[in-house]
Amino acid sequence: MSARLVLLGPPGSGKGTQGALLADFLGVPEISTGAIFRKNLSEGTPLGLEAQTYMSQGHLVPDSVTNAMVADRLSQPDAADGFILDGYPRNVEQAGVLDQMLAEHGWTLSAALELDLDEELAVKRMLHRAEIEGRADDTEPVIRERLTVYHQQTEPISSLYKARGDLVVVDGDGTLEQVTERIKAALAPYLS
Ligand code: ADP
Repeated sequence: MSARLVLLGPPGSGKGTQGALLADFLGVPEISTGAIFRKNLSEGTPLGLEAQTYMSQGHLVPDSVTNAMVADRLSQPDAADGFILDGYPRNVEQAGVLDQMLAEHGWTLSAALELDLDEELAVKRMLHRAEIEGRADDTEPVIRERLTVYHQQTEPISSLYKARGDLVVVDGDGTLEQVTERIKAALAPYLS
């Protein structure tokens, strides 16, 4: 079957790490909007340069830019048999646009997986990650701003998916392996 998943959860909750593992396991591409923006930035493309101002402040890149980028990515052949979206949708408007994109392809979402993590733990993880990866937006003030944006704009999406019976919440506190096992168990009924 085709797994079509959306990953939700605060910055630092492990969406990227677990998303990549899950994508491997399910044999579908992981589509991370943040990673696509960072790649464009490192290559100096116009998209990357446009996104940089917003990313460096912890703000969302404008919907017009992000939605077009995701529409294009979902139309690539490798997304035809499923995907994991990491970092999209990130506000209610994007969630509506995603619904339209799915409908245009004749697809339905398998589930929206939310990784739940204590906020201070998430901050600690990101500060630790900063030492290893050196991500420009992993400084404490920008991390705090990303969390604010998450609460204001992204969190409301959870209730939207919950109302549809698509929300699966998993505790993101634990070892990498523990969280992976929890995710697989929680998603099993949605992927059969
Ligand atoms: P994190 O979840 O740790 O904040 P991401 O890699 O998902 O990191 O996102 C990094 C940045 O990329 C965001 O702060 C934002 O500026 C931009 N971005 C990523 N996804 C989106 C999106 N769906 N809409 C708007 N901006 C986005």
